[in-house]
Formats: sequence, C-alpha cells, structure tokens
Amino acid sequence: MPELPEVETVRNELARWLPGKTISSIKILHPRALRRNSGPSLRSAKNPLLGAQVAAVNRRGKFLWLTFDRPYALVIHLGMSGQLHLPKIPATRSSHLRAFAEFTNGAKELHFVDQRTFGYLALEELTEDIHGSTSIGGVIPSSITHIAPDLMEVFDNHTSSYSRARVNEKIRSRKSEIKRVLLNQEVVSGVGNIYADEGLWSAQIHPETHANVLHSGEVDALLVALREVMKRAIEAGGTSIDEQYKRVNGESGYFDVELNAYGQDGEPCARCGTLIQRLRFMNRSSHLCPKCQKKR
Ligand SMILES: [Zn+2]
Repeated sequence: MPELPEVETVRNELARWLPGKTISSIKILHPRALRRNSGPSLRSAKNPLLGAQVAAVNRRGKFLWLTFDRPYALVIHLGMSGQLHLPKIPATRSSHLRAFAEFTNGAKELHFVDQRTFGYLALEELTEDIHGSTSIGGVIPSSITHIAPDLMEVFDNHTSSYSRARVNEKIRSRKSEIKRVLLNQEVVSGVGNIYADEGLWSAQIHPETHANVLHSGEVDALLVALREVMKRAIEAGGTSIDEQYKRVNGESGYFDVELNAYGQDGEPCARCGTLIQRLRFMNRSSHLCPKCQKKR
C-alpha cells in the first residue's frame, strides 16, 4: 500500500508535467473509481474540470490532489494498488485502467490504474486548511480536513498550529499502542505499516508499548526516525514491497533493499543480530527486534 514516500514520488513526477496543461476530457471506466459527493459530477457534461488548467499537484499524507484555475480540486487516493501514469499518445491502455484524462495539447494522457479498486477519484470544493499549511497554499479539499499534517509539513515548519511539540504531546495523550497511534491519520498523516515498523525499529520502541507511557524525548526521537526513513525513501523513489506500487514511468521504487524491520522476519537485526520477529497486529503484521524493542 502506498505510504507518504510513494505518494510523494508520484506527486513529484506529476508536478513536472501537469501544471499549465488544460483538461479536454475525463473518462470514468469503473464505477468504484469515482467517490460520490454532493457537488457537480465528473461524469456529466457540466463537469467543471473540462477546460480547466492544472495549477498545482499537492499532497498531505497519502492524499494527492490537483488544483486548477477554478475553485475545485481533483482528489486522487491510491488505496491499496492505485497507480498514476502519464503515457505519451498513442497510449496503451491497461486492463486495470479505471479512469483517464486527456489534455488539449494532445501529448500525454493521465491514467488511473487500480487492480484492487480501493483507490478513487473525487471532485471537491476547497476549504480553508485549519493548520494553515503553506506547502498546500492554505486550502484543502473538503473531504480531508480531518487529516492531520504529515511529518514533512511538521518538520519543515509549514504549519503554524501543528508543531513538532504539538504532535509529540498529542501522541503521548493517547492510551493505545504506539503503532496504532502512528497509523491514525488524524494524529499525524502519511505513516502506514512499512514506515511505522521502520521508525519504531530505529527508535527502539516496541509497537505495542502504550503511547502514554513514552517520554517526550523518546517520542521526539521516534518522529525524527520516521521523518528520516521517509525522507530516504523519497530520495530512493519509494518502496515496492508488493509490486502494486509503481512510479509514474512504470518503474519500481528501490527503497526495499534498505528496510531494517518490515518484511525482515527471520533475518538478523542490523543492530544486534537477534532475529527479527513478526507479530499479528490490527489484522496486519508488525516486524520488530525482540531484543532492541522491549515491550513496556
Ligand atoms: Zn536488535
């Protein structure tokens, strides 16, 4: 499942081509590709994105959206297996193609390919971002106002109200397991199973230790570790653990060779040599070193 680094890799690649391009048509090929909302439809002849010029490609956590020369956003959530491609015309269309957009300059198409159909597109109005993040221009699509800023926004001081100290305090106010808190997109966004395991391994914290027993210094070290591992993954082009995530050009990311915990069960811990274990957690898996990450 794409997490922040994978979505950021896609955002960065889209942002090199899409801004300034004008949409001439949007075709929806699968009913689940479109999230219903109360506003105008992407399917209708009155689709307000027809003739719209792309202004920017923005991201918060795992959510991606395009802004235009009019007050709408096209939200794209990649779900479990969603991919965005910008093939040159004439483009080959995958059997998992769920929606595509054409542009007036006729050079490329934007394809939304999604084998497992948990991803979606949504046409939304923009509303004020209560965190005032400068990296997204102070506005956010209306359906994702509850999503907390991500660690890139927090560490780069893009938001006035969501500082590193505020995130730390919010995490330690929770009584549930630290991994569950990290996966809660309303506390901090963008962290999923892979980077939660990597960050907890780096900070030497057991995933089931309750957040409220951690000290401020430990949580700060965890936030630094999470941000660091995600930053390195962005530089490497994201992680391709399950072959479902692909970059815009169809290549895999290369970060999986650097993972220390996720998917490493049975391998020696890079710090102490003890074998990494896999535990069942929240219907998924946690990977940890039983020696370096003692449960408290
Ligand atoms: Zn270890």
